[in-house]
Amino acid sequence: MRESEPEQGCLQSGMTGELRTGIRSFWDGKGPGVKRNGVMALLLNSLGTEKKPDQEKQSVMASLNRRIIRCQACRLSVTRSHALTGEGSLHARMLFVALSPGAKEDTEGRMFIGPSGKILNALFNAAGVARSTVYMTNLIKCMLPKNRRPKMDEIGTCSPFLTEEISIVRPGVIVPLGYYATRAVFHQYEVDAPAARTDYASCYGQLVFSKNQKIFPLPHPSSLIYRPDYMPATRKKYQKLRVLSADCKWYPVCPMKYYYENGWLEKKWIALYCQGDWENCVRYEMEDKGDYHPDWMLPDGRLNEYLRKRSASKDLSTG
Ligand code: SF4
Repeated sequence: MRESEPEQGCLQSGMTGELRTGIRSFWDGKGPGVKRNGVMALLLNSLGTEKKPDQEKQSVMASLNRRIIRCQACRLSVTRSHALTGEGSLHARMLFVALSPGAKEDTEGRMFIGPSGKILNALFNAAGVARSTVYMTNLIKCMLPKNRRPKMDEIGTCSPFLTEEISIVRPGVIVPLGYYATRAVFHQYEVDAPAARTDYASCYGQLVFSKNQKIFPLPHPSSLIYRPDYMPATRKKYQKLRVLSADCKWYPVCPMKYYYENGWLEKKWIALYCQGDWENCVRYEMEDKGDYHPDWMLPDGRLNEYLRKRSASKDLSTG
């Protein structure tokens, strides 16, 4: 769960309960005289065995976790005690990605229970985020011996597990912690990444939207073990998690929602502001203060001529 060195920088039928009850009573001979047939029998069989999306997610994740636990695809399987699977809510809005298990995590087979975990808990508490509401995993599932840097082939071999976890949880925001996780996630979602490792520090605390995915890189908590003086700045960045945990309160009545739902506004505006960092929205601030602002003003404060014309059109007035 740590970086090796300080960071600067359904089967679901879709039927309602009422419909299910109706079909059951029909099949029990209480219905209006329609004969049983093969299709109906099939349907009723499925009633007893249907899987809810929750169960499906759990079973797909359990299957993935079994593969992780048994994995021997790279040299790290020789030196590990445990290959760590992810932990947390499969419905999490935020999925955290650390680098790899630390010594304590490797020994006990749990995520973030060592020194970094204590710091992470403190940062979560300060931000008002409950660990039980997020999903946490590692880029590399096995401990790196003596805290050494990961090798490219180790990341390449192990990272497909992360891709699978993301596709199961489908988080609103991926939160990579530290350089290696951020670099890997940026690469996967084709984000313009800094060339130098030291420049990654400028990405921490900045919400990014790429390939239809929000990414919010943060410093790895282990960086504070080496540099406790970074705590105030790091805590401030983690505080944003509270904002990212909920949509903007103005969203249901905001013109941006209307524009977006009518196809007049790119999704990035909604992702980065309304369902992202709404605290940084100029419209949000003006709404709160009761200051006048036109409907066609974008979240970053710029006036948009196309939206002004749309607002003046019959389309909007009849919307
Ligand atoms: S545009 Fe701003 S005020 Fe409107 S819903 Fe989005 S974040 Fe909130």
